[in-house]
Amino acid sequence: MQALLQENWEKDSISLREVEEPRPGRGEVKIRVRAAGICGTDVRGISSLRPPVILGHEFSGEVAEIGQGVEKIKVGDRVTSETTIYRCGVCSYCQEGFFNLCPERKGIGSGANGSFAEYIVVPEFAVHLLPRQLSFEEGAVLEPLACAVRGVLEQAELEGKEKVIVLGPGPLGILVSWVVKTRGASVILVGKREDEFRFQVAKEGGVDDTLNLDEVNVGKIVLQEIDPYGVDVVFECSGALSAVSLGLELLRKRGRYIQMGILHRPVTVDFDQYLFSRELEVTGSRTQTTSSWEKAISLLEKVNIPLKKIITHVLPLSRWQEGFELTQSRKAIKVILMP
Ligand SMILES: [Zn+2]
Ligand SMILES: [Zn+2]
Repeated sequence: MQALLQENWEKDSISLREVEEPRPGRGEVKIRVRAAGICGTDVRGISSLRPPVILGHEFSGEVAEIGQGVEKIKVGDRVTSETTIYRCGVCSYCQEGFFNLCPERKGIGSGANGSFAEYIVVPEFAVHLLPRQLSFEEGAVLEPLACAVRGVLEQAELEGKEKVIVLGPGPLGILVSWVVKTRGASVILVGKREDEFRFQVAKEGGVDDTLNLDEVNVGKIVLQEIDPYGVDVVFECSGALSAVSLGLELLRKRGRYIQMGILHRPVTVDFDQYLFSRELEVTGSRTQTTSSWEKAISLLEKVNIPLKKIITHVLPLSRWQEGFELTQSRKAIKVILMP
C-alpha cells in the first residue's frame, strides 16, 4: 500500500512509498483510512517521533478487518482512533487513567505507524465509533477536538463564568475557543494580521471577539475594556515564545494558564512575579486521554460544533507536499489528506 513514511530525523526523509499492508493481530482492528488531517507536528516534528514511521494521527475510516478477540467493533463500522495505542497499564499514570503521560506510551504517527496510508492497525481499546452525523473529513478532526476538550474541560476545569483568552488561532486554538463557548464562558481569540480568515471562521463558530496583535495593544485592551483585573483563564495554543509572557500578563491574580502549543525550546519565566506574587496556576495539556475522547464525542451529540468550518482543503494523499506547505503557510486551517 501507499504510505507517507518519515525515514529518519531529517524532514527531507519524508516520502510517499510502497510499504507492506499491516495485518491485525489479536485484539487489533484494521481500518481503511478515509480521511487524515495534517497536524503542525507532522510538519514541524515532535520529540516523541521514532523514525522510520508512517506519519499522521488525526483520521477516520472504515473497519476493513478485525483480529481474534475483537468484540465490540465490526467490519464496516465507521470509526476513528485515539492516538495512544500503547500504554503499559501498570504505571501510576495508567492506573489513574492518564494514559497520555505513561512513560511507555506510543502514539500513532510518532511512536507507531500512523494514518497517512491506505490502512492502519490499532488496538480495539483505542477505537471509537464516529457519531452518525459526522462525515469522514469531520471525523478526522475529532482528535484535535479531543485535545481541546482535554485542555478546556479536564485541565482548566472551566465552569462557564470565566473570561477566557485563547492565544493562537490555528485549528487547535479555534477548537479550544469553541469548546470554551459550549461552557458559556466568554472568549477572545488573539492572533496576527495574517490570521484574518481564521478569525472570521472562529467568529462564525461563536467566538465573542478577536484581537490582532499587529494592530492593537492586547494587554491594554484587556485591562481597559474586558476586566481591570485581567482574565480568568489563558490557553496558549500558538507555540510562540512571546505568547507565554503575554498570556501570563493578561491573567488576573490566581488565574489559570494552560500551555497547549508546543514551544520547541525552553522559555524564561519570572516565577516571583507570576507564581509567587500573583499565585497563578500554570499547567499544560498533552494530547488526550480516553476520557477526553468520550467527552468530545458526547459534546458533539449535545451541541453543534461546526467542525466542517475549519476544514479548508481536502487533497489526495499523493499531494501531501502541497498539504504540508499549506499547513505551514497559514493560508489553510485544517488540511485533510485522502489516501
Ligand atoms: Zn495533532
Ligand atoms: Zn503506563
